[in-house]
Amino acid sequence: MSRTGGIELVKKIIEGKTELLVPESSLQSNIPPRTPAFFNPKAELNRDISMAAYRIFSKNKASSMIMADSLAGVGARGIRVAVEVPDVKEVFINDGNPYAINLAEKSAQSNQVSEKCEFSNLDICQFLASHSGPKKRFSILDLDPFGSPAPYLDCALRSIDNNGLFSITATDMPVLCGVHPKVSYRKYQGHSLRTEYSHEIGVRLLFGSVAHNAMRLELGIKPVFAYRARHYFRVYMTIHTGAVWEEKTYKEIGYILHCFKCGHRATDIVSNMECSICKTLMKHAGPLWTGPIHNKKFLKELAQDCETHLIKIGTKITSIALQEIDMPPTYFTIDKISSKMGVTTPSLSSIIQSIKKKGYRASRTALNSKGIKTDAPNMVLQKIVKTLSEN
Ligand SMILES: [Zn+2]
Repeated sequence: MSRTGGIELVKKIIEGKTELLVPESSLQSNIPPRTPAFFNPKAELNRDISMAAYRIFSKNKASSMIMADSLAGVGARGIRVAVEVPDVKEVFINDGNPYAINLAEKSAQSNQVSEKCEFSNLDICQFLASHSGPKKRFSILDLDPFGSPAPYLDCALRSIDNNGLFSITATDMPVLCGVHPKVSYRKYQGHSLRTEYSHEIGVRLLFGSVAHNAMRLELGIKPVFAYRARHYFRVYMTIHTGAVWEEKTYKEIGYILHCFKCGHRATDIVSNMECSICKTLMKHAGPLWTGPIHNKKFLKELAQDCETHLIKIGTKITSIALQEIDMPPTYFTIDKISSKMGVTTPSLSSIIQSIKKKGYRASRTALNSKGIKTDAPNMVLQKIVKTLSEN
């Protein structure tokens, strides 16, 4: 395939059940180049799980489901939706790069889904603004930018239908996880904090920022699923209009407080608090989302769909996420506890078992493979790790 300035090689690959035309250069380097067009083969899991999520969401809906891939690159997600999500009737595929859209159009043709797809070559905010009026909004919107999604949240929320689904990828983990707390405040309206559970804080800052943007537009949000894989966060939520939803959303905004002396954590609507255990002044992250980040019904169906469609890692992530529903909003990491105590690290499953035997709740978390969520006090957890490491 030729383009101005030279010849670009294009390759046909299969992802899920879909044939995709991608620049050969994107398959050859560790970090896929942005030119001639962006395609990240390593984001296959991200796209696989989103197919499952969109299938669940669009199933049995009375209204006609319209999906938009707003920063589509070569259209990998959007074309896959047209092929693999039967209840979505129309897919809008937009990217600022005309070469990328040209490839997306060709992929749609080879999958025989051109009639379902609408292509555009606009700046993302222009694209979203053209869908912000009544009867033009999307039932499902995906936002998967390079780095932070923050600059696009406002335009995105205006283009989502009442009760619609919003999925976001964020790759600016150092900002969200406490390396740059001030940048986090500027972009996400909440300070990040470096702790062993900074992934949880990151995801909650992201939901918090969407919530702040939503409330300004008289909307509310309901998170349904969040996880971390490789170097990104992925969050799913539904968007709702009405004063009841605004109020519900407002009530879930607060702070996570951390005591760096004894490791105690708290969630509150104030940011300035003494540790209830050792009386040290606690540090805070936020304002952020303090409510549930998963929805049980959605996750159960998602786990089932991942299993049916043989999305192995998706099945694993969703089944772990199901375990952490109703657990406290922060987790402990076993290597951090054992290294602080100078003991060997026991297995995650043995610690969880021991905590449960003592009558407390405990689970793994979809945000950190070494994390444990529990309502057991810090001291109980330390005692268990010590006992297990001696056996
Ligand atoms: Zn303390």
